[in-house]
Amino acid sequence: QATLPAPAAPADSPGSVVTMSDRTGLPSRVPYLIIGSGFAGMAAARAIRASDPLSKVLMIGDEPYPPYLRPPLSKELWRRKDDRVKAMLSPLGDMRRNSWLFVEPDSFFIEPRRLHLADTGGVSLWKGRRVIALDIADKRVTLDSGDRIEYGKCLLATGGRPRTLPVFDAAAAQSPEVAARTAYFRNIDDFQSLRNKANQAKSVIVIGGGFLGCELAVSLTEVAKKTGLEVHQVFKESGTLAHVLPPHLSEHTSKFIAQSGVAQYPGERVTSVDWDSAAGQVKVGLSSGRSLSADLCLVAVGIEANTQLAESAGLEIDPGDGGFLVNAELEARADLYAAGDACSYYDVLLGRRRVEHVNHAEESGAVAGRNMASDPADPDRKRSTYQHQSSFWCNLANTLAWDAVGLVDSRLETQSFFAMPPPASDDGAAGSDTAEDYQYPGVVFYLKAGRVVGILLWNLPDEIFQDKKAFAPSRLNLARKVLAERQLADPAALQALAREFDVY
Ligand code: NAD
Repeated sequence: QATLPAPAAPADSPGSVVTMSDRTGLPSRVPYLIIGSGFAGMAAARAIRASDPLSKVLMIGDEPYPPYLRPPLSKELWRRKDDRVKAMLSPLGDMRRNSWLFVEPDSFFIEPRRLHLADTGGVSLWKGRRVIALDIADKRVTLDSGDRIEYGKCLLATGGRPRTLPVFDAAAAQSPEVAARTAYFRNIDDFQSLRNKANQAKSVIVIGGGFLGCELAVSLTEVAKKTGLEVHQVFKESGTLAHVLPPHLSEHTSKFIAQSGVAQYPGERVTSVDWDSAAGQVKVGLSSGRSLSADLCLVAVGIEANTQLAESAGLEIDPGDGGFLVNAELEARADLYAAGDACSYYDVLLGRRRVEHVNHAEESGAVAGRNMASDPADPDRKRSTYQHQSSFWCNLANTLAWDAVGLVDSRLETQSFFAMPPPASDDGAAGSDTAEDYQYPGVVFYLKAGRVVGILLWNLPDEIFQDKKAFAPSRLNLARKVLAERQLADPAALQALAREFDVY
C-alpha cells in the first residue's frame, strides 16, 4: 500500500508574512489590511483567502461584534420572540442553528496576537478599535490605541453613519433630556437601545420617509400591539419612499403604513426641538406650524459615508454623493482600495455611483479583495472590474415587497406594468399605471435618455420561473441582463419585457 508523503510545510508567500510588535505582541506589519468589519470587509477577506490561500488578513472594526447583516435589524428581528432575538444576537456557538445575522461565529477569527502563528493563514479580527490616520506614502495606519500597522494592500470598507439633523443636534446640546430621547439607528447596539426605549415609551416620532423610517415605523407597530405605543412618522416628501418609488406606489406604501397604525405627517420638516419639562416629553415643531410631543424621537434621514480618513490620507472624495472616489477596479490609489457604502465607484454601465445596500457591499468587497490579491504573473489571479448590478429589497408585508436593480430613482421617467385582479384578459395586457390595487405583481422600468437604467419588481419574488427551463434566469438576473443590453424604451418593447418578467 502506498503511503502519502507528509505535506510540505507551507512556504512563506508575500501574503502570509506578518510582523509582530515586540512591545505589544500585536501585528505591526500585515500583507492585507481591511479597515471596517462590515459586509464589504468580510467579503473582501474571503476573496483574498480564496485567491491567495495561505494569506493572512487583518480586519479592524470599531464594533464589538464580528461581521453581521444589518437588514434584519429594522425588519425580521422586531417580529421575533425575546429568546429568539437573544439567540440571534449572540455570535457564539453554531451559526446555522442560532442566528443568520452573523456571517461567522467569533471562533472563526484568529486572535490578532496569534495571526503570525497561523501556518495556513486566516482572517484576524481586531474589534472595538478605530483607524484614525492613514499614511499612503508609508503604507501605514494609526489606531486610536496609538498602535501603528504597515500594510501591503489596504481596503477602506468603513461604511456609513446616520446623518444627523442640526435642529436635533442643537437641542441635544442644550438639553440632556432631549439627547437621551433622540435615537439614531445603524447597528446592533442601536437596535437593542431602540427596542428597550420603545418598550418603555408611550409615544415615538420617526423622522424620515426613506427605507429605515418606513421599515422601523412598521416594526414599531409590533411594539404597539403589546404596549399601545403611539407611532408617528414625519417626512418632507408627499409620500413614503418617494425618492425611490413612482407617485402611485409611494402613495400605496403610505396608505399601507397608515393602515398599520402609524400616524403620518407628509410634507413636513422639523423646524424646532425642545424639552417640555411639564409633559416630560420632546416637543417637535413642524414646518406647517403644527407640533408633536413624544417620549422618543428616531431620526432616520439617511447616512453619510465614513470618509474621515480622507483628510490624513489626502484622498479624493466624491463632491456630490460623498464616498472615497475609486475607479471601476475599486482602486483609490496604489495598493489602496475602497468598497461598500464608503466608496463612490465608476460603474461602467450606469456612470459614477455610491450605493448603500448590502448586496453591493458584498459584491464590491469581493471584487476589491480579488484585486488586492491579484498577481500579474498568475493567470488565475487576474484583476477584475466591478460590473455587478447589485440589487436591494424592501419588505413591509407579504403583499408589499419588492426587489430592484440599477438606477431606481423617482426623479427619472418611469413606466409601470401591473397585473390587474383578476387578469384582465387572456392576453393579460392590462395595464399601465391604472391598477388601483397594488397588492398584485408589477414591474417598473426607470428610463434615462431613452434606455432602461433601473428595474423594480413589485410583489414578484426572485424565483426561477416555474414554467420555463430549469436554468432560466431568476427575475433579478433577467433585470440585470436587460440593463446590460441597454434596452431602448419603446412602449411596445417595454410591454413585451413586462411579460418576460411573468407579471401577468
Ligand atoms: P434614505 O436615504 O432611504 O431616506 C432618507 C429620508 O430622510 C428621506 O425620506 C429624506 O427625504 C429624509 N431626509 C433627508 N434629509 C432630511 C432633512 N434634512 N430633513 C428631513 N428629512 C430628511 O435613508 P434611511 O431611510 O435613513 O436609511 C439609512 C440607510 O439604510 C440607507 O443607506 C438605506 O439604503 C439603508 N437601508 C436600506 C434598507 C433597504 O434596502 N430595504 C432598509 C433600511 C435601511
